[in-house]
Amino acid sequence: MTEKLIVLGSTGSIGVQTLQVARRNNIRILALAAGRNVDVMEQQAREFLPKMVAMQNETAAQELKIRLADTDIKVYSGEQGVLETVHADADTVLNAIVGIAGLKATLETVRSGKILALANKESLVTGGELVKEALKQYGGTMLPVDSEHSAIFQSLQGVPEGALDRVLLTASGGPFFGKTKKELENVSVEQTLRHPNWSMGQKITVDSATLMNKGLEVIEAVHLFDLSPDRIDVVVQRESIIHSGVVLKDGGLMVQMGVPDMMLPIQYALTYPNRLPCSERLDLCAIGKLTFFEPDKETFPCLSICTKAITDGGLKPTAANGANEEAVALFLKGQIGFTAIARLVEGAVAQQSSGTAVSLESIFDADASARRYVRQHFSQEAV
Ligand code: NDP
Ligand code: MG
Repeated sequence: MTEKLIVLGSTGSIGVQTLQVARRNNIRILALAAGRNVDVMEQQAREFLPKMVAMQNETAAQELKIRLADTDIKVYSGEQGVLETVHADADTVLNAIVGIAGLKATLETVRSGKILALANKESLVTGGELVKEALKQYGGTMLPVDSEHSAIFQSLQGVPEGALDRVLLTASGGPFFGKTKKELENVSVEQTLRHPNWSMGQKITVDSATLMNKGLEVIEAVHLFDLSPDRIDVVVQRESIIHSGVVLKDGGLMVQMGVPDMMLPIQYALTYPNRLPCSERLDLCAIGKLTFFEPDKETFPCLSICTKAITDGGLKPTAANGANEEAVALFLKGQIGFTAIARLVEGAVAQQSSGTAVSLESIFDADASARRYVRQHFSQEAV
């Protein structure tokens, strides 16, 4: 059980909820890091009094340093500063940075010998092989925070080795469930950000609407649970009550259910293997019924693009992720339409050659080249 914690991405949706879990369970905060939100970081620093804080944005770090001048808290800046916080004296690092920006911190955590509680799925999508190699080399522990993967991990407790047949990855279907391709052409940013069951950061909310999030999660599951992609079944569970599970060799299906709330998966990663009071109890009779559907892969192509990318392997998943990060940013700025995201991701994955050896350098090259592809082709998609 974690007693001393470092939170990366502390100012974001998962970061803030992680600090709520820390507050409730008297977990000490040794370091905090984030991008540029000085106001929230200052508040967090004053409440939790960590030894060090870092802002990736240099200007934000300067401002924070001035604001925290009356405290003993050390302020670091830049990407290097964020990595520095991983070395504070703690047992666990919870990485809730968004995007490939979290990859180096994930690797640094594993190398530091600390437990990695991972929300930043993009680090596994882009650098899964490297993360796993490092875990082996340093004998580290990685615990999932993503709710589906936490549910799979929880369902696997007590299951003997070799008994797992398949993984069941549930999806809510997002705000545009049931819509046709034609209807998706004109959906607005505002409609896209209105998720029916979850309140999350902007990027993952868009990813949930395109089903890219589920695609990224298939890749995340491949790495976390050492499975081939064809052993992962995606099922739409509209109410987000069944958070995911496993099908065992004897046909038994073990799932984890609960209210849609990230507090439990965050807390489980921090208190594992203990289970402490957390979320409100699920009232099954009040819910009445649960509904299941096949995902509509025709209308939401990102899921299949990701499954194919991880099946082909190499740097294809990195290209899918980089193109998606770039395309989502353009969509949020109103520069491309919703359906363009999938077309740009597909194009960028196609231009990524298979067979390049995976290294940190080649991962960042593939990421840059996928982003370049999106910037060169988005004008044809402009709204
Ligand atoms: P948010 O956008 O709400 O927060 C992102 C955090 O990352 C912020 O603290 C931001 O700082 C920080 N950040 C951004 N860029 C950098 C950088 N270069 N260096 C350091 N910090 C940086 O995202 P979410 O909390 O929603 O998601 C975080 C991660 O967790 C994602 O990978 C997401 O897929 C995953 N996840 C999220 C879930 C959710 O419910 N939200 C559920 C499951 C997984 P600042 O704002 O100060 O710039
Ligand atoms: Mg998830």
